[in-house]
Amino acid sequence: MLAERPERVDDVPGALAALRRGEPVVLTSAGERHLVIAAERVTGRTMALLVRYSSGFACVALEGERLAALDIPLMEADDAGREAFAVSVDACAGLTTGISALERARTARALAHPSTTPGDLVRPGHVVPVRVRPGGVLERPAPPEAAADLCRLAGLVPAAVFAAVPEPASEPLPPALDVLAALSVADVVRHRERVESPVRPVGTASVTNRHGRFRSHAYVDDVDGTEHLAVVAGDVAGGEAVPVRVHVECLAGDLLGSVQCRCAGDLDAALAAVRASGQGVVVYLRGRRSPCERHAGAPSGGRGSRSTHRVAAHVLLDLGVRSAVVLADDPGDAIGLGRFGVPVVGCASPAADGGLSAV
Ligand SMILES: [Zn+2]
Repeated sequence: MLAERPERVDDVPGALAALRRGEPVVLTSAGERHLVIAAERVTGRTMALLVRYSSGFACVALEGERLAALDIPLMEADDAGREAFAVSVDACAGLTTGISALERARTARALAHPSTTPGDLVRPGHVVPVRVRPGGVLERPAPPEAAADLCRLAGLVPAAVFAAVPEPASEPLPPALDVLAALSVADVVRHRERVESPVRPVGTASVTNRHGRFRSHAYVDDVDGTEHLAVVAGDVAGGEAVPVRVHVECLAGDLLGSVQCRCAGDLDAALAAVRASGQGVVVYLRGRRSPCERHAGAPSGGRGSRSTHRVAAHVLLDLGVRSAVVLADDPGDAIGLGRFGVPVVGCASPAADGGLSAV
């Protein structure tokens, strides 16, 4: 009885291929749509299309380091969460007014080109650079960050021409745009969360407890430096239907043996179950609130946060787990792991005799 939702196939690969070909893509977010073109590939023709079907306010999403290297300051020092607009620019070489699509395309390509220097640009101009956050769309899920991230994911310079489509997203796109690859900012977030691991393996050790012998793998969380553990029984690399327990640290239960929650008993039962099965993983995640603290009295195998499942899934992928049977009383962990690339083929509950019983 696994209530797993079918995983939505994201539209990122199609958009990346389009960006590499120099084509515009449509990016949706919060009821808005933007046209996005890789800055290094934009031409007079594609810029003309972007200007014609957008507000015409052509911006270029750029990383902070790049803006600093080109000596382009922000218009306001404190962007307070809004779009971080920088001083507008034109490329100097060979431009007349700088406003034509051909000339704006040339300016956008100059912003992306590694050999461009501050002296190659005049200020103000007709192209507006926008600074993106260092963490990209994972730090700020907004169109400029998504646009720059898409270029980087496409193997291009992380610089993207973008402009808003004036019609609300509830209205159909003009036929000329309807043929373009389309995706949402949320698709870019999901894609990055799936393909980029937030943890790094830092070492392994052998541990023997009353259930038997385990191999403990330590991982450092790149987001906050927390160290997590994967306690592994047997050989799980390449394994299918590997028993997996995602356990969030509960100091009161795990360390002090509190009887006010089920954490200590659940952890012990999971270790016993994976050892008895001959193979399995207990992913022990630290630095976050245990479900028992969040919902006092609720089963400790309850839904973890999105970030908990992302970390656990990447730990399992690093260990080579191909598919999992989740040891939990409800399917929250199963759905969460599935979202981040670890197929879950079943749910089971650790039985009192150390075995597994289907949920
Ligand atoms: Zn607890």
